Amino acid sequence: MAAAASDAQPSAAATSHRVAMDTLVTIEAVGGPSERTDERTAKAFAWFAEVEACCSRFDPASELSRLCDQPGTPVHVSPLLFRAIEFALAVAERSGGAFDPTVGDAMARAGFTENYQTGATTGARSAALPSFRDVALDPATSEVTLGRSLTLDLGAVAKGLAIDLAAQELRGLEGFAINAGGDIYAEGRNHDGTPWAIGIRHPREFDALAETFAVSGAAVCTSGDYERTSSSEAAHHHILDPSSGRAASGAASVTVIAPSAMLADALATAAFVLGPERGIAFLEEQGVEGLIITPGLERFETTGLQEFIA
Ligand code: ADP
Ligand code: MG
Repeated sequence: MAAAASDAQPSAAATSHRVAMDTLVTIEAVGGPSERTDERTAKAFAWFAEVEACCSRFDPASELSRLCDQPGTPVHVSPLLFRAIEFALAVAERSGGAFDPTVGDAMARAGFTENYQTGATTGARSAALPSFRDVALDPATSEVTLGRSLTLDLGAVAKGLAIDLAAQELRGLEGFAINAGGDIYAEGRNHDGTPWAIGIRHPREFDALAETFAVSGAAVCTSGDYERTSSSEAAHHHILDPSSGRAASGAASVTVIAPSAMLADALATAAFVLGPERGIAFLEEQGVEGLIITPGLERFETTGLQEFIA
């Protein structure tokens, strides 16, 4: 007599890696015949290359750079770039400018100039401190107009956007998780049939976890002051307060749990700039969950966060 199959029988799982957007991207795919999974995974990875080619500030040939080379002129852009800029401007508006995609030149002045693939550097276009209000969109014609010379930076949106596009390719599998340098979207079940457990790095103890969340059908994105650093005096890390052009200092790490990675990615950056009290109030207002750890290692949480703690 054959033994009954156990409910918790492990499913086939495949893990693959690529470097994109200056980070390691890992896709774990669970279930389904392997050729089908491989094909979906390849399509998922292709989105990272596509979003990067479109939205990178470090590539003079990217669609974003070409747009920034034409201030004062309406420029017709692709649906992908339009979507990224439109979303970034909406978050800028909602966060009262704490999030601002016109920080590109301030980022360059703070020393973030190097293309990780070629080593070539890109300087600032202007010495001014512009704002998101200098960018106008026309959805009817898909045109973007920069009101003055400035550099758009979609670094806080692009990774999330690529994760969401990649997720669409993998939907329908028993489960999958996409991890781009600690920004994660997970759906379904992992290979042992349990929900995905996502560990958040402790901002000061590098081999320790600050928290573990259990999620399915949600993104968990973290912005940390330890992720990309510079020796510049103005900014020792990569999240700037747009009002000063200097590194935001109220938080050490911000983790956001949201239905999409683009939303979680951008709101984490916005809350980082706002700092713990205003950041948590902002995340509550936006209807997402979040954890903010300060440089003094104090924890601030949204009220619904506990439900996700594994
Ligand atoms: P990571 O790239 O480590 O995931 P974030 O998602 O927080 O980190 O994004 C940080 C990036 O966002 C910076 O590298 C820069 O490109 C951009 N950025 C920095 N400050 C701001 C800001 N105030 N508003 C919008 N984008 C920002
Ligand atoms: Mg991010």
